[in-house]
Formats: sequence, structure tokens, C-alpha cells
Amino acid sequence: MVNFKDIFGMNADQVNQSIDDSEIKLDDTSTLNYSDVLKEINLLDADEVMKQIKDLKSELKDQVTILGHHYQQDDIISFADITGDSLILSQEASKIKKPYTIFCGVHFMAETADLLSQGRTQRVILPDLSAGCSMADMASAEDVEDAIAKINKINQKIIPITYVNSSAAIKALVGRYDGYVCTSSNAEKIIKEAFRVAGNDSKIFFLPDQHLGRNTCYKMGIPLEEMYLYSPDLEVNEIEIKRSRIILWNGYCFVHQGFSVQQIEAIRKTSPETKVIVHPECPFDVVMNSDLVGSTAYIVKVISEAAEGSKFAVGTEINLVNRLAQKFKGKKEIKSLSPYQCICSTMYRIKPKALLLALISIKNNNPINVIRVEEKIREDALKAINKMLSIK
Ligand code: SF4
Repeated sequence: MVNFKDIFGMNADQVNQSIDDSEIKLDDTSTLNYSDVLKEINLLDADEVMKQIKDLKSELKDQVTILGHHYQQDDIISFADITGDSLILSQEASKIKKPYTIFCGVHFMAETADLLSQGRTQRVILPDLSAGCSMADMASAEDVEDAIAKINKINQKIIPITYVNSSAAIKALVGRYDGYVCTSSNAEKIIKEAFRVAGNDSKIFFLPDQHLGRNTCYKMGIPLEEMYLYSPDLEVNEIEIKRSRIILWNGYCFVHQGFSVQQIEAIRKTSPETKVIVHPECPFDVVMNSDLVGSTAYIVKVISEAAEGSKFAVGTEINLVNRLAQKFKGKKEIKSLSPYQCICSTMYRIKPKALLLALISIKNNNPINVIRVEEKIREDALKAINKMLSIK
């Protein structure tokens, strides 16, 4: 599997090539073997793949909804019935009545869509099972449970809050400990609510993204000295845990970690009128030096509503930045904050060929890669998700 570390510094075409060369990952739950179909698909040229997707999508229009995350490539987005960030797509997934949802995003998003699907009659399909999220993978349920036990042993009351970019198993664990799920749009609201309910003397255990946790808590007025970075590989520092209000899991997103203060300084020198807008998964110093900070939905909104002639350097995944640049070409100047390609390599796993195979499998009544969260995990994970959704 190609990961972001391997592709840092490559341009988009090189990344594409690198990922094209590796195989689409399929589950083995389908009773049909799709490896021969995949061989045939691999012989098709790109135009033919697009044509077949178009035809099949139209044929299956009463059965299939295609969701496309903002970070997907344009080819995929061109087939999406609904586009958005992970929160919007999960909310939309919960309203879908058609039997199949093809989620063009990453694994935790498909799991969340399955968790929220109505009456469990829909099936959510992830076209390539190797489309994971490196940040979500940085927190395993075992390690987090171990961390909670260690912190509890120091006699500290903690409320876990997990970013939606985490596995269903982590959401379930958080649900069992009376915690919350949050998104990059509502993290501040959720942290405030957790303190309101549990009392200001309690501690928040925020996972898996240290940057979103740190940036949000600092904005709320909590000093850095009251935040402790928990690493499962290191000894727990009891004294520091006791004096902290926030315990951050040592996770991060490779894509957003690729932005730096030096890049902002370069923009300030060459184009002082350009506004720097970044995602809160970026490191603390990048967020501190930016003009605007917010979720992908916020970034899209700000840029869309900005006056003609506005200029933005954007600190988030390159597919979204390029799409915005194209959309507002000639009216607004939009470019990536980074001179390198900040690409989510796992999002890139969802190729048109994988989408075509998913559609063929639905047509055969034998869908591949159905993401189904087991019932016990689902119940607990929904507790944490519903606590988030109940906060207005
Ligand atoms: S951009 Fe980062 S957080 Fe989002 S899916 Fe990719 S690796 Fe995960």
C-alpha cells in the first residue's frame, strides 16, 4: 500500500501513477470472485472506464447514491450525487433511502455512514478497502483503553472526545466512557459542553488529532502548559498529567502536517494581500500565523463568499484547493499554501476503476467491500455520536 510518507514531494501525476500500479483491495465476503472482472477493467482505457461508470450509474439510479468527499479527484467528484466534508456526507448518508451508498472517501467515513444509516437496510460500499486514514490508524482501541486505565489510575477524572476521523471501535470505546464524537466544525462546542457537564476540574482526553485538540483548546483560552501530549510508547508523566486540563493523543494528519510557517512567510513577502486560510489539523504555529482557520466546509464557504479579486493561499488537501481554483478562475486567485503536493494518498485510492467495479458488483446483486460495523460496536459508537448530535 502506498502511504503519504512514500509520496511526499511527488506531483499529482506521479502519485496517480504510483497508486495505479498497485491493486484495488477487495474483501472476500462476496460470493463472486471479481478478480477476472478487475482484469478486464484494467484493460479498458480511461475514457471507456468513465463511459461505463456513466452508463451503469444511470442504469442503477434508483438503487445507488454516490457520495464524494471534497478531497477526491475530479473524475470521481464528477459522478458524486452529494459532495462535502465528512460531517456533511455522514449526515446526508443518514437520510438516504436507496439501498446502496458508494462512499468515495476513506474507511472511517464509510463506517460512520453505516452507523448512521436508517434501519440498517442500506449497504455502504467503500470502492477500495485500502482507502484508510493514517491519522485514524494512529489510535487503536487497545492503546486508547490502556491510556484511559493509566490516567484513571492516577485518580484523574477524564472525558474522552474523539474526532470523527477515528475508527468505529474508538467511537464505541469513547461512548462506553460517556464521551463524545466531534468534528472540526464543532470541536469547541463539544469541549465546552464536556466541561459544563463534568465540571471544570475534570480533564478532556482528546484524540486522535493532537493539532485539532491543541488549536481548539488554545482558542478557548486554555494555555499550552495545561495540555499534555500522550504517547502510547512513552512513560506517563504523573505530575504533568495532574496539572493538565487537556490530554492530547499523539496523532496527526500527514497532509496537514505538511504546511509550515516558512510557507506563510514566503506568501507574506511575495503577496501580502493574499489571505492565508488553513484547516485546524495544521500544526499550532501554522494556525497561529494564518488569517483564517476552519474546517473544509468553512474554507469552501469563505472562499465562495469572498469578493472578486480576493486571493487565498489554502492549507488543506490539494484536490479541494485545485477544484476551488478552477471554479473561481479569472475571478479569485486560489492556490495551495505549500509548493509541494499535499495529497491524501489514501483518498487517492478511490480510482474510477474501483468505482466501476463497485457498480458492476451492485448490478450483479453481489456487492464488494460492504462496510458493516458490528452491532455491539455500533450501539456504543452511536452513544458518542448522538451525544454530539444532541448539542445544538
Ligand atoms: S487528509 Fe489526513 S485526516 Fe483526512 S483522510 Fe487523509 S490522512 Fe486522514
